[in-house]
Amino acid sequence: MYSVKSVDRLIGELSKLPGIGEKTAQRLCFYILRMPKEGAINLTKAIRELKEKVRYCSICNNITEEDPCQICRDKSRDRSIICVVEEPQDVFLIEKLGEYKGVYHVLGGAISPIKGVEAEDIAISSLLERVKREKVKEVILATDPDVEGETTAIYIFKILSPLSVKVTRLAHGLPAGGDLEFADEVTLSQALRGRQEMSSAP
Ligand SMILES: [Zn+2]
Repeated sequence: MYSVKSVDRLIGELSKLPGIGEKTAQRLCFYILRMPKEGAINLTKAIRELKEKVRYCSICNNITEEDPCQICRDKSRDRSIICVVEEPQDVFLIEKLGEYKGVYHVLGGAISPIKGVEAEDIAISSLLERVKREKVKEVILATDPDVEGETTAIYIFKILSPLSVKVTRLAHGLPAGGDLEFADEVTLSQALRGRQEMSSAP
């Protein structure tokens, strides 16, 4: 069978990326092949730098190049409100709205019995410590509006309920069963503004 090893190798690597099938991987590979050498090298440098420089903030667990992260260092942010999200990209989504002035806590996933992810596997205990240690008034649970996100929100609500902190959840209207990522900015902004206090009823 006809093959050029290095072409096959790059296509193989690219098709491991989400949303990239064999055809797109092929198209990208041949595009890269036609690129000036410098452009291709810059691309590999950017990937390498990302993997070498990016680490996790020791306070909020968000990705950062400097610890603590830019948001945790920012004196103008309101530390009494913590917005809890599943992934670092959720911070990017909410920051893009430009209206949230509190700080974040990135869980690094969601509780999922099916995938074998338990509460201890994500950054819940560090959130609990933070709420106890700092004068936190409100915790916004902005986990995804799917089963795992809901399970995680309910779990966190339960462990926070003995503490005197208001716990809110993003308003409905977000695409159910989806990812925060799939919400448009207007919907996400409305969900954030319309957040509701969670109650212990069922
Ligand atoms: Zn941080």
